[in-house]
Amino acid sequence: MSAPNSDFDPVEVAALQPAALERHVAEAVAAFATAADLESLAAARSAHLGDRSPIALARREIGALPPAAKAETGKRVNAARVEAQAAYDSRLEVLTAERDARVLAEQRVDVTMPVGRGRVGARHPLTLLSERVEDVFVGLGWQVAEGPEVEHEWFNFDALNFGGDHPARELQDTLAVGPEEAHLVLRTHTSPVQIRSLLTREPPVFVICPGRVYRADTLDATHLPVFRQVEGLAVDRGLTMAHLRGTLDAFAAEMFGPGLRTRLRANYFPFTEPSAEMDLQCFVCHGASALPGGEPCRTCSSEGWIEWGGCGMVHPNVLRAAGLDPEVYSGFAFGIGLDRTMMFRNGLVDLRDVLDGDVRFSLPYGAGLAGEV
Ligand SMILES: [Zn+2]
Repeated sequence: MSAPNSDFDPVEVAALQPAALERHVAEAVAAFATAADLESLAAARSAHLGDRSPIALARREIGALPPAAKAETGKRVNAARVEAQAAYDSRLEVLTAERDARVLAEQRVDVTMPVGRGRVGARHPLTLLSERVEDVFVGLGWQVAEGPEVEHEWFNFDALNFGGDHPARELQDTLAVGPEEAHLVLRTHTSPVQIRSLLTREPPVFVICPGRVYRADTLDATHLPVFRQVEGLAVDRGLTMAHLRGTLDAFAAEMFGPGLRTRLRANYFPFTEPSAEMDLQCFVCHGASALPGGEPCRTCSSEGWIEWGGCGMVHPNVLRAAGLDPEVYSGFAFGIGLDRTMMFRNGLVDLRDVLDGDVRFSLPYGAGLAGEV
């Protein structure tokens, strides 16, 4: 080492002494080795290798040395820096590998692990059935019509040719709403929509009217105080019962399978003349009233036919109430109970299940009642 000269500053240059440098390196190596994670390693790096670190400050002092001392001191400082850097690099490698291994373990997806499945909702089977019926008739070119559930007596009875003393008006069948003088009832059928449709549309009128209706019935396995009907009405010039029959056969085939027929039996309704009960050929035994093995058919109670609804030609008085001339126009109408349709179509035993609100009732078969206990 060269001899000191007059410019030599003993205080500043103390940082460049081999012992001091060795201590800085030892401190740096110790700090890196004890850094437990990447964050503390980064902090140690800033303290021991950063711009303000003892080694960096020592390096700056080289410039103040006499030229003869610069080369040797520079090598020593550089070696110190390289050693500290190497200690840092190797620790960084170890900690990075540890972090990667931990992240891989933490983020691994176990595809066999059971998870809490969120329940998926489902639409009510009656709503789906109602839309199925609408689709069939919209496909035939009909329109969907709706009316209020709280209805004026005139629409619910008078305009439909129910006489003032008709038993259906009695309170045991009909639920009145509000004071008697308001003449409001919960509609007992969807037929008032016929009148509303005829009053708001010019013939030809072809409408299908699904909706809730109300009767003062006691809730049991086969009766509901509120149930759903679907009403059909066609009014045009020259419509006959043949059109009615053809429409019902097409409806039955769309709902229950091709080739199924309907049967009409004479009946009485105030708003149709002639009137008929409509039977559907049993879609399980196809009218044979027994299954191929000779077992009785439960769907139709071995009748071969299932009662499905009522129908008939629109009564002239109903056309008159809607302002139409029965000499010019004729029409047919029919109504079915949707709940009842679902009952025999889906093998439903107790109609109360429709109203219970048990979510399993709406779930697809296998996910609902059959799938869990
Ligand atoms: Zn049958």
